[in-house]
Amino acid sequence: MHQVTLIPGDGIGPEVTAAARDVVDASGVKVQWDVQLAGLKVGEETGTPLPERVFASIERTRIALKGPTGTPFGEAYRVERTTKGADGRSETRVYPSVAIALRKELKLFANVRPSKSYPGVASRFSGVDIVLFRENSEDLYLGLERMVDADTAEALKIITRGATQRMAKFSADYMRRTGRKRVTIGHKSNVLKLTDGLFLKAAGEVLAGYPDITTDSRVIDALCMELVLKPETFDCLLLPNLYGDIVSDLLAGTVGGLGLAPGANLGNEYAMFEAVHGTAPDIAGKDIANPVSMILSSVMMLRYIGEAAAADRIEAALSQVLAEKRDVTRDLGGDAGTKRMTQAIVEKLK
Ligand code: NAD
Repeated sequence: MHQVTLIPGDGIGPEVTAAARDVVDASGVKVQWDVQLAGLKVGEETGTPLPERVFASIERTRIALKGPTGTPFGEAYRVERTTKGADGRSETRVYPSVAIALRKELKLFANVRPSKSYPGVASRFSGVDIVLFRENSEDLYLGLERMVDADTAEALKIITRGATQRMAKFSADYMRRTGRKRVTIGHKSNVLKLTDGLFLKAAGEVLAGYPDITTDSRVIDALCMELVLKPETFDCLLLPNLYGDIVSDLLAGTVGGLGLAPGANLGNEYAMFEAVHGTAPDIAGKDIANPVSMILSSVMMLRYIGEAAAADRIEAALSQVLAEKRDVTRDLGGDAGTKRMTQAIVEKLK
């Protein structure tokens, strides 16, 4: 029996996580779900959107399947966590959202985003099957920005050898586990000679220790062009944080959009699987949200916990439902609701 923390989240989160849970349960894999509410509604009711019990649950299960959680726009919204250090003193850390607080607190330094074409899903491309590894702990996203004077702003881009090596090793190990063979490092070291130069060199050195994996590299702008000319020729990408953020959405676009994009945030101790899309407040509670992104996130979770056969079966069932187009949601050109589409996948699993 696997233990998994399930965070339904806000907006369409409860609907799409329920879909993922139904499909995983129908696959025959035994999961004990520890449901932990977090997000905007919990914040309004209890004063904190991310109660300590959520961390306690994930520290126990080590695996979380998370629905999207809302972050109010333009408000002074903060997510805080206070813990006691080894010296007994308490320390409070502040984050802009629940998702970021979880990623940082659980040291989930690797963001993994697969993009795959499925028959029946309208897209300009076919045959895309790329896994993008995005370093998630440093680069320009450390948020080290300041106004130098009234007319000048600066941001610090930090790349360290340690974080890059950790990410390269993580990517190579993930590739070995999942049978991937080639990784392309994206960089801009012709201009950012020190930061991107270090990323390219340190990652390349680690990957040289994996002779079964072919490593090459591209300047990030050239890579973007190649990705929209012939995405089917790439296998895996390894990118620093900012480029990884941008290119992962570009890749989602090549396979039909965000409604189909799963994601995982992984570290050495914990793993959190979440859809790439947000809470979609415009369609929440209407039984019209596309559950595929969340279901594919749970497929990634199953592979991670050693249930590859069940993951393959779910993916095959999902693929059939997409190809038949009969029971798909409106955004995919059908007229099914979230529940009907989920039920169609469950039926194929029987
Ligand atoms: P969004 O992804 O929620 O919605 C963008 C558009 O895509 C909307 O029109 C929505 O209806 C549609 N959409 C999204 N998911 C869909 C699905 N599964 N099926 C069908 N249509 C879907 O992005 P947003 O509007 O920028 O963000 C809304 C909220 O979500 C914000 O509060 C934001 O902070 C939050 N958010 C959370 C996470 C997370 O928890 N990881 C990620 C992104 C956004």
